Amino acid sequence: MRANRSIVAAALSTAALSTAALLAFACAGASRGPAPLSPADPAPPAEWAIAVHGGAGTIDRGIDPQRKAAYVGALRAALELGSRSLAAGEPALDVVEKVVRVLEDDPLFNAGRGAVYTHEGTHELDAAIMDGRGLATGAVAAVKTVRNPISLARLVMERSPHVLLVGDGAEAFGDEMKVERVAQDYFHTETRYEAWQRALDSERRQEDRDTVGVVARDVFGNLAAATSTGGLTDKRFGRVGDVPIVGAGTYADNRTCAVSATGKGEEFIRHNVAHTISARMDFLGEGVETAAEAVIRRTLRPGDGGVIAVDARGNLALAFNTQGMYRGAADANGRFEVGIWEKWER
Ligand code: ASP
Repeated sequence: MRANRSIVAAALSTAALSTAALLAFACAGASRGPAPLSPADPAPPAEWAIAVHGGAGTIDRGIDPQRKAAYVGALRAALELGSRSLAAGEPALDVVEKVVRVLEDDPLFNAGRGAVYTHEGTHELDAAIMDGRGLATGAVAAVKTVRNPISLARLVMERSPHVLLVGDGAEAFGDEMKVERVAQDYFHTETRYEAWQRALDSERRQEDRDTVGVVARDVFGNLAAATSTGGLTDKRFGRVGDVPIVGAGTYADNRTCAVSATGKGEEFIRHNVAHTISARMDFLGEGVETAAEAVIRRTLRPGDGGVIAVDARGNLALAFNTQGMYRGAADANGRFEVGIWEKWER
């Protein structure tokens, strides 16, 4: 311990503290403050920054123009709400929850209202939230009557000693917390119903994703991530994906980045995708874009999905290896854009 302290003291007394020393200091777990920044990081710090996603997958370029306009409009509205809130000084944690709630209430997305159908014709919802300040996190899986699972996840984080509650237990906790409840038919939409019918007929696993997620860096330099989903169409046997598995679909650490993922949950769990991006930044000193691209291009396989991520300086990464990803990015430097396919929409 004494030897460690003297190593750190020596490093600190060096006039020009090298990035390597800073990284070693962070890796030793000696600091929980903002991350030492990668020298590969040229952008000036953004005071606040936010990214949203509405799912990644095969998104037909011939999509009905009205439907496309609805997605673009919803992403813009989510981004505007998040940007306004962050610019007004709201904490990242509040903003990611607030924006995910709006997306959960929007029947376009596979989260909250609009969630996909299970094999049995029910809806089972998963969500997770994480606070980059101290790795506090909460998640729920397979909940059936909670209107906004993301808020229940936040209550798990703040009002229980646990991280993940599932099924009936999570519902009982929801009773105690008095969260808003709805009947299962609240989640119904024609689009998801038809997708379920097609899945029942075809035996083919459906690519009906549209999970939602938000990551943010607030004006205080804190990071947060939130993700919410109905999972996969026609899922059975209590299948749970990556979204409520902290480190797989959702992660936030002020020292590195906040991440929200979307795609084939099983792959994201196997590769612990969100935490791996954070770990690459921590151990390898990579910038957030390099780390996110490495995991999306090299760790995962084409067609698996995508991530949004933000680092301590407000740099954003939006990476995907699917045909498209509904997404948006905004920051205090004036960035404000939404996209579906490779190019951003004009
Ligand atoms: N990752 C989600 C899951 O596997 C689905 C998605 O993102 O579309 O449950």
